[in-house]
Amino acid sequence: MSLLLDDVTLTYPDGDGRLTALDAVTLEVPAGVLTAVVGPSGSGKSSLLAVAATLVTPDRGRVVVAGTDTGSLDQAGRAALRREKIGIVFQQPNLLASLTAVEQLQVMAHLSGAQPKAVRERAMALLDAVGLAGQAGRRPHQLSGGQRQRINIARALMNEPAVLLVDEPTSALDHERGAAVVELLATLTEERGTATVLVTHDRTHLARTDRTVVVQDGRVSEQALA
Ligand code: ADP
Ligand code: MG
Repeated sequence: MSLLLDDVTLTYPDGDGRLTALDAVTLEVPAGVLTAVVGPSGSGKSSLLAVAATLVTPDRGRVVVAGTDTGSLDQAGRAALRREKIGIVFQQPNLLASLTAVEQLQVMAHLSGAQPKAVRERAMALLDAVGLAGQAGRRPHQLSGGQRQRINIARALMNEPAVLLVDEPTSALDHERGAAVVELLATLTEERGTATVLVTHDRTHLARTDRTVVVQDGRVSEQALA
């Protein structure tokens, strides 16, 4: 199993008190499973991803990524774990304006000191996997919103993460392009065996995911299959 949140509680400072963003959340995501997370705005979806990404440390509970209990790691250890095991895709692609599509992917791996030729080949293969082999030389302003989001996803896969965390990737896209991005995530999850968590506000996308969990007031429940 690749991602486990075990009885995780997260609070934020809120005036004189604390706001409970995640309330005793337990969630297991096995490898190769695309899990959708839905729930109203402010319910704790992004907080759940931030904890899973080890960007935020919970008040209580365990976060286990690819077999490593992240509570035992220091800051450097968590950064290394993120680099090696976790792919993160946020709502806005945040591509670098001056880099071509293939370079957006290459910079990821250069950070980890891999061989440039192997890195370029891997970047090209990933662009091909997301349907952008022909756009490798284009810069962000020469690409559509959907294409930029595909590059964002490909970039998150550069270091072959065990866990892929995706926060509302379709919110800037029209419905059809959004559905294509979810389709792509489903395919990549199956092919690469990632434990994928997809936060989405669009319930029509749930037809393509393996399971759905609902977050409400920081609590998680499994959605019964319709
Ligand atoms: P969602 O992604 O479902 O919209 P969030 O996880 O962003 O929900 O937020 C959950 C709750 O935590 C909300 O009440 C939000 O206002 C609060 N919150 C989120 N991030 C912070 C923060 N950094 N500091 C304080 N409160 C926060
Ligand atoms: Mg959010």
